[in-house]
Amino acid sequence: MKTNDLLSLNVRELAAAVGAREVSASDVLEAYIAAAETSETDINAYITKTYDLAREQAQRVDARIAEGDALSLSGVPYAVKDNIAAAGVPLTCASEMLRNFVPPYSATVCERAEAAGGLMLGKTNLDEFAMGSSCEKSIFGATKNPLDPKKSAGGSSGGSAAAVAAYQAAWALGTDTGGSARQPAAFCGVCAMKPTYGTVSRYGLTEFASSLDTVCPITRSVADNAYILEILAGRDRRDMTTLGLTDEDKRYTEGIDGGVRGLTIALVNGYEAFADTETVRCIQRTAEVLCRLGAEIVSVDVPYLSEAVEIYLTVSAAEASSNLARYDGIRYGKSADDASVSARMKTSRSTGFGDEVKRRILTGTYALSSVLTGDYYRRIKSAQQTICGRIYDLFEKIDILLMPTTGGMAFDLGSFDENPTAMYGSDRFTVIGNLTGCPAISLPVGGDGHLPVGGMLMGNRRSEKMLYRAAFAVETELKDVIKGEYGHAE
Ligand code: GLN
Repeated sequence: MKTNDLLSLNVRELAAAVGAREVSASDVLEAYIAAAETSETDINAYITKTYDLAREQAQRVDARIAEGDALSLSGVPYAVKDNIAAAGVPLTCASEMLRNFVPPYSATVCERAEAAGGLMLGKTNLDEFAMGSSCEKSIFGATKNPLDPKKSAGGSSGGSAAAVAAYQAAWALGTDTGGSARQPAAFCGVCAMKPTYGTVSRYGLTEFASSLDTVCPITRSVADNAYILEILAGRDRRDMTTLGLTDEDKRYTEGIDGGVRGLTIALVNGYEAFADTETVRCIQRTAEVLCRLGAEIVSVDVPYLSEAVEIYLTVSAAEASSNLARYDGIRYGKSADDASVSARMKTSRSTGFGDEVKRRILTGTYALSSVLTGDYYRRIKSAQQTICGRIYDLFEKIDILLMPTTGGMAFDLGSFDENPTAMYGSDRFTVIGNLTGCPAISLPVGGDGHLPVGGMLMGNRRSEKMLYRAAFAVETELKDVIKGEYGHAE
């Protein structure tokens, strides 16, 4: 099989071709490595490449195939965001604090992908500790958007989204605390599902805000995404918050072509105020498509749409300030030379963390501090409870919320240098999924002739199957229409 043919196969087809010995895992791997090497200098998607490890994995997969042992991801190369642990491979979180840290254990998601026959190509770039929306706040430099190198790839999972868009990996692991998988997917023209909180194990994921953190598949198609989530999802005794899903619950690909007839899908009243005209056009068109396919389209109010980002920022910063206390300059990570413990802690943390991470730690510590007698945090949590209650009530009446993933298309690199907190606005639509634990999928729904626009479908907790079904319908219906509306990475 020729390289281009291999790259054009979806994940299931690729694994099937390897399983049927039409091509070896090693050949698939070399094709992806060659593709990655061609574009990587321009894009900077990877922090650490693990080609040798992947070659060993490929040999093992080929040996198993020779014995008739084909697996669901046999020979499929994937990339891992560098805030997820893989044993023996540096885990940097794009931070000076962890520049030299090598974890002795693997995240459950990496174990599952490897056990399914996957080949890990490397660890991808992110905003430091997953805090950011542009993939610029990394000690390894910014990741560039494969569709236009002057533009941001989005963040924080920009490296993973760019790698998938540029055919540097067949799929990738991202993480999403407030939009970090969906927003970069939207910017790069790929697909990301943030599943229901607890669907995928967080064991081995570096904590940012534990009550919101979610591990997500990033893929080039909706069906690939559902296929990968089937492999990753399910109870893990090392993460108490994982849901006990049955095999039936996890069959996300089953009935994916079942259509949207009979579903009630709601547009959000007033969303246009937070989106540019091109984005509004694409979302309206998506609604029309869904209507034509038999869904009923209504519009609803979403509570606190204007305040959701502020609520998210306070909740996530409070948790981050506590989670990041473990980087104390003593136990692991960067350790300064000062003689006293307190001086060592101070120097290690001052020089180990970048500005954005410090901003979150300071905000979070302040929100929790006795100066405010904890009352501020309590009030924010109560606002979060109100949002949850109203959203769950809403899902008694409607099936799916349709929104833009983000208000606009990929912005220029450096656009927020002067005013970093203005970037927080790009998470307005995505944070609702994290604050409520609800699943939401982003997929390309058009573009301005150059860059893609991402549309987001959000449903009640554990409604992934329905969301995949609706997203698949939109993808199928729009495929030809949106061709040419944004550039495709070669
Ligand atoms: N952009 C958001 C933030 O900076 C979301 C980050 C994330 O989802 N990890 O907080």
